[in-house]
Amino acid sequence: MYLLTSEVIFGYTSVRSLIVSASCSVEHLRRVSDSAFVLRFSVDPGIPFTPGQYVSVGPSGGIHMREYSIYSPPGGSALEILVKEVEGGYVTTRLARLRSGAPLSVDGPFGFFTLDEQWREQRHVFIATGTGISPFHCFVGACDGLEYRLLHGIRRVDECYEYEWYDRSRITTCVSRGGGGDFSGRVTDYLRQEAAEGRLDREARYYLCGNCDMIYEAFDILQEHGVPHSHLFAEVYY
Ligand SMILES: Cc1cc2nc3c(=O)[nH]c(=O)nc-3n(C[C@H](O)[C@H](O)[C@H](O)COP(=O)(O)OP(=O)(O)OC[C@H]3O[C@@H](n4cnc5c(N)ncnc54)[C@H](O)[C@@H]3O)c2cc1C
Repeated sequence: MYLLTSEVIFGYTSVRSLIVSASCSVEHLRRVSDSAFVLRFSVDPGIPFTPGQYVSVGPSGGIHMREYSIYSPPGGSALEILVKEVEGGYVTTRLARLRSGAPLSVDGPFGFFTLDEQWREQRHVFIATGTGISPFHCFVGACDGLEYRLLHGIRRVDECYEYEWYDRSRITTCVSRGGGGDFSGRVTDYLRQEAAEGRLDREARYYLCGNCDMIYEAFDILQEHGVPHSHLFAEVYY
């Protein structure tokens, strides 16, 4: 089924989406840590999307669907999503068991967490917790020469999902339990430290993605230190 949505103006970004409801099939599932995996599925005839958008995914034939940012850049015949397997979670525990060829229900694309074309050449700061890194993986894969820093908040170092895709010198990993990252503590502790040392980039555009506690706290820190509200964009996962 196809449904053409109206054009929506959000900030300076305008997105026109063709919502597709498709039955897709799993190409493969690749483990990126003990509790996270990338699910790659073929979509025929394809889902055109803007980097930063998400799809709604669920086991085929069921009524339970969940939202997942698109991890892979546009252009291929398959889509990838990066999924954290939530203990006792209804959909993630089922997706984690899928094998190649298994059918899957997919709707989308949805959402407006997209880059502003007018700002392509300017500085961006991406702030993620856990699998909230997914839309940034898509941005980086889709936009050559993107000027970005990525602050990634994780509990343990095994959540450095596929860092080989990024310019490592642009990532600051904040590890809250145990060491091994660039910074020991939460990503908001790191932001607070940057602000206290006068190193916060007030001119950049900030994109925040992941759990809502991090997003609320980071918004407060950034706004208290002079980053205008119009430079803040967020995608809340849970
Ligand atoms: C716009 C949007 C995009 C999203 N993109 C992604 C994505 O790219 N990757 C991804 O892994 N998730 C993403 N999510 C979260 C995802 O939609 C599901 O909520 C999550 O996968 C849990 O689904 P479930 O059915 O297994 O758990 P449920 O049975 O629905 O819920 C179980 C519990 O787990 C909590 N929970 C949800 N996510 C997490 C988490 N990561 N860690 C700990 N607890 C959690 C919920 O709050 C709930 O209390 C996104 C959510 C939104 C709204």
